[in-house]
Order: sequence, then C-alpha cells, then structure tokens
Amino acid sequence: MADFILEYGHKPGWKSVFNVLGITVPPRLKRLKGSWKKQILAGKKVVTATGAINASVLSNIYDELGGHAIINSLPAEDRADVLLFDATGIETVAQLKSLYDFFHANAGKLANNARIVIISLTPSPSPRERGAESEAAQQAIDGFSRSVAKEIGRKGATVNLVRIENKNVTEKQLFPVLHFLFSEASAFVTAQVFRINSSGTIPQIVPLENSLAGKIALVTGAARGIGEATARKLAAEGATVIVLDRPEDSEAGKKVADSINGKFLAADMSKEESAQLINDYLKKEFNGVDILIHNAGITRDKTIAKMDEKYWDMVLNVNLQALIRTNNLLLKSGTIRNNGRIVCLSSISGFSGNFGQTNYAATKAGIIGYVKALAEELAANNITANAVAPGFIETKMTAKMPLFTKMGGRRLSNLNQGGLAEDVADMITFLSSPGAAGINGQTLRVCGGSYIGA
Ligand code: NAD
Repeated sequence: MADFILEYGHKPGWKSVFNVLGITVPPRLKRLKGSWKKQILAGKKVVTATGAINASVLSNIYDELGGHAIINSLPAEDRADVLLFDATGIETVAQLKSLYDFFHANAGKLANNARIVIISLTPSPSPRERGAESEAAQQAIDGFSRSVAKEIGRKGATVNLVRIENKNVTEKQLFPVLHFLFSEASAFVTAQVFRINSSGTIPQIVPLENSLAGKIALVTGAARGIGEATARKLAAEGATVIVLDRPEDSEAGKKVADSINGKFLAADMSKEESAQLINDYLKKEFNGVDILIHNAGITRDKTIAKMDEKYWDMVLNVNLQALIRTNNLLLKSGTIRNNGRIVCLSSISGFSGNFGQTNYAATKAGIIGYVKALAEELAANNITANAVAPGFIETKMTAKMPLFTKMGGRRLSNLNQGGLAEDVADMITFLSSPGAAGINGQTLRVCGGSYIGA
C-alpha cells in the first residue's frame, strides 16, 4: 500500500485536514529523472564557508557544475539550495564556533530539497600526530552534521559529511562525490559519511553522466524491486546490463532485460553450481565483467526461539554465502576486470538488528565486514568493494510487512517517509562509476537518516 499521508498530504483540501489532526505531512522529494545531469548548479544559490582546502579546488568544481558560490551568507530574502562548509581547518574546540556561526545564519534560509555538505578530515591513523583536541574537534563535526540532518529533514533537505585524508585533496577526487551529493540522485541519502581514500586512482575529473558507456554490469535479483531499478539506472548511464534472477522469474527478468537492451541470465543464487554458471557465461559472452551488483536477497522472519533451521540456512546461504562463493570464483578466474566495481546490498538491520530478523541481520552485518576486508585485498587491481544499506524502501519485500510496522518504518526517517527502489539504485550507480574510485570498503546507507541504528 502506498504512503497515504504523502500521497494526499500535498493535495489542497487534504493538507488542512492533516494539519487539524496534528499529522505532519512528509516533504515531497525531488528525484533524478532519467540519466545524470551535467550543470546541476546552474541557477542555484550556493553558499560556502571556506577552510583549509585550496579555494580554487572548490570554485573549479562549482564552475564544472555550472554554478558559483557566495561566501558565508545570503541576502535576507534569498533561500539557499546548497550549503558547503569546509571544516578541514578546525583543530580546536574554540574553532567549532565557526560551525555555529555559519549554520545559525543559514539553516533557517534553506530552499526545499536543499543540499548541505560538510567536508572534514578522516581520523588520523596515528592520532598523536594531530593531537587529541584536533581529533576531538573533527569528530565533533560528525555528531553536529547528523543532528542538523534531523532538524532540516522536514524540508526534504539533506546533510552529508565528506571526510578526506588531508587538505590537499584534488578536484578529481572531490568532484564526483560532490556532484552526486548536490544532485537529485541523493534525495534519500542523509546523515551519511563518505570517506574519500586518496589512493583510489582517478586520472582526471570523471563526469558522472554517461560514465558507464562500454561497461558490462551484472545485477543479481534484477527482475523486480531494487535490482530492477539498478539495472535500469546502470543502463541509462551506458552500461550493458545482465539481469540475473531465478529461473521461475524468467518472464519478468526477460522483460526488464529487453526494455534496456540487456541480457537475461537465469540462475538460482542459492545453488552452488550457479557461481560456475555465471563465470562461464561472463567469460564466453563478454570476456569479463566490470560491475557486479549483489542484490538478490530474501527474508524469513521468526524469533530465534521459533525459527526453523531451514530458514536460518536459507537466508545465510542466499544473502551471504552465495555472493562470497560467486566473488571467490570470479576473482580467482580473473573475470572481474581491473578498475571493476563490486556493490553488495546490506541493510540498516545489519547495523541495528531487528526483531525477528536474527538470520537476516546476521547476513547484512556480515556484508559490512566482508566489503571492508575485500576492499583491501582488491585495492592492487583498483577494484572497489562497497555496500549499500537501504532503510525502509517501498518494494514487494516491505509491502508484505504488517500495516503498523510499515507506517513506523516510514516515519522513523528524518525525511518522514520510505525511500524508493530508485533512491538505492542511484547510490549503487554512483558507487559503480569510475569517479567513485576513492570510495572503498564502505557501507553507505540510503535510509533518509532513519533513526534505527544511526
Ligand atoms: P525483492 O524481494 O523485491 O526482490 C528481490 C529479488 O531477488 C527478486 O527479483 C527475487 O526473485 C530475487 N532473488 C531472490 N532469491 C534469489 C535467488 N536465490 N537467486 C536469484 N535471485 C533471487 O527485494 P528488494 O526489496 O528489491 O531488496 C533487494 C535487496 O535489498 C535485498 O538484498 C534486500 O535484503 C535489500 N534490502 C531491501 C530493503 C527494502 O526495504 N526493500 C531494505 C534493506 C535491504
């Protein structure tokens, strides 16, 4: 069932009814339609606070995106579409006051669906180098940004933190992440931390649009839901997509594949022999693969005391064992090409646990640990491994939930609503792009800043 309050809350007669009943109507989120756009800052009001990053790096990025920034604050009557705060120069508790000054002046003047990005430093591997107060000041920014995210969510606005290793960050490292975070593709991404690892190789600024031309991508569980949306988004950026799903879902899978000029591959990920089947297919038809999206997943919810052993085994096998088995074989066979991208579907249940989901949450937490370790193994070949953890997303999987659990799932996010399969697909597509080379071993949530596990 669709979100009744969101659907009717913006219709003229209904809005006042909800107001009288004291029900908050969720904001309407502006989402990306079609493929990535280039000049996304054209005509937008961008306000920035400069810090230790070379100001020309940021101004060149605004230029590239078709905009320019005003320093510190807007005229009283204006609304800001983008706020960017460079916090990399903050080293003391006293200097945190600059956050107060900037956001106190600007947070009340945001346009609907505004984007806020704060850039800070990744904790130092040897904290004594920077000193304890400096580490504390940088970490404070994390709590600050997550709190602002909760305060401005009702406007459909988002806040994300980008952490860089040092202030000498380059345009080519920062550009793709800022492009994504300023864009409509990140509508349901808020209160997240994107760490940019400077060892990820990006030869030059890589625009996001059409960046997957010539790439081969395989998406498991792509006959419907998040997998289908991902297959469509990857194809929209130029990739040739193999839609994989179970043999019994062939009809739906073929329809998706045909509509995006892709291929359909019937394989049941729960079967051990599927890894070999996938490997042989990719080698024979495409001589390898660039992008591998492990999306197929199932739930079999029961409390641990009442759970059948077969439901434990089934969920562990499909959600975790199958993807490790498949990656092991594809990597051993050299099927995943250099500069490849692996994205696995985790869940916010993997962070916080969930009633009746011991099996599911174990697999989704397992994925968080898996990509972290795999990323290090694959870094030499410039292959990245990341995970995306959706919050409450409106798909067939969540449609099965009891009504009140569903309503709760929607209202617990900062944006006061559930996400769409396309929101998750946009993040997966971004992580699959060449420009995301600096993001590796991370699990990023697409949850609207859901309180659960935050
Ligand atoms: P869905 O049930 O709508 O779709 C899952 C797809 O996977 C289906 O097409 C199904 O046929 C396929 N699949 C299942 N078992 C398979 C197998 N053994 N072999 C091949 N394909 C198989 O699910 P969804 O909501 O789109 O979720 C996709 C992924 O996102 C899952 O991993 C899920 O755990 C994760 N996730 C979803 C949500 C959400 O709110 N929907 C939240 C967190 C995480």
